[in-house]
Amino acid sequence: MSALHPPDDLAALLRWYVDNGLDETIGEVAVDRFAPPTPAVVPAVPLPAQRPVARTPTRTAPSPPLARPPVPLESPQLVEDARELARRCTSVAELEAAVRAFEGCALKRTAKNTVFADGVAGAPVMIVGEAPGADEDRLGKPFVGVSGQLMDRMFEAIGMSRSRDLYITNILFWRPPGNRTPTLAEQAICLAFTRRHIELAQPKVLVLAGGTAAKAVLDTTEGIMRLRGKWTVLRLDDGHELPTLPTFHPAYLLRTPASKRQSWYDLLALDKKLRDLGAR
Ligand code: URA
Repeated sequence: MSALHPPDDLAALLRWYVDNGLDETIGEVAVDRFAPPTPAVVPAVPLPAQRPVARTPTRTAPSPPLARPPVPLESPQLVEDARELARRCTSVAELEAAVRAFEGCALKRTAKNTVFADGVAGAPVMIVGEAPGADEDRLGKPFVGVSGQLMDRMFEAIGMSRSRDLYITNILFWRPPGNRTPTLAEQAICLAFTRRHIELAQPKVLVLAGGTAAKAVLDTTEGIMRLRGKWTVLRLDDGHELPTLPTFHPAYLLRTPASKRQSWYDLLALDKKLRDLGAR
């Protein structure tokens, strides 16, 4: 049997799918990823109201309002749309509604749930991870699987809990199919909302869990090995400067328990920073 050609027998075909990384069914209809892009049904962000123009009497029929053509899901315009929608939100609740209504991210099509946040909006510590996994997708909450449970235990060790002190989200609101790495376009679209999310939640400090979140939020190519444990300042679009601590992702700690010692130092540094800021 060739690795590139699917076998005829059904059991062998299923095994072939699994061997090739297709370990879950996500839709009734197969997706042809080689087909030319179909325009997405992305509601255009309404353009700002035009200044009223003095009316001149005319006999010609008014032309229909200019409608923007549908935007393909690959278009950079979607990042602009996401930024504009996010900028207009003035509360976390409004932002959540905008994210749930947003149709411009391809990941939403295959996800079961929008995973927006958990914990207390306005808590002193905001944690931003990478993307929902299978458990988060099923339950609609971030960090509820095994890595999230480890994260909870780590924060409990410094007396912090998600029911009181933490506000938790991800740079992506939808699970990438099969937990694949999100594309840069998917990250850029969701990040537009996430940056506004950070502004609106107004934490005292930000914790970036893992390399993908750290690179995306800090807009750097530096890896987590260099970034972790070093405080940096995130300048938000509203001008606010937020103390930010990149740290290892709990899933990495599950695979590499020896690194828990460094994460413990990060937690102690976080505790000290909060005390210095009078937030504990
Ligand atoms: N990993 C993440 O980065 N986020 C989650 O919500 C779960 C696992």
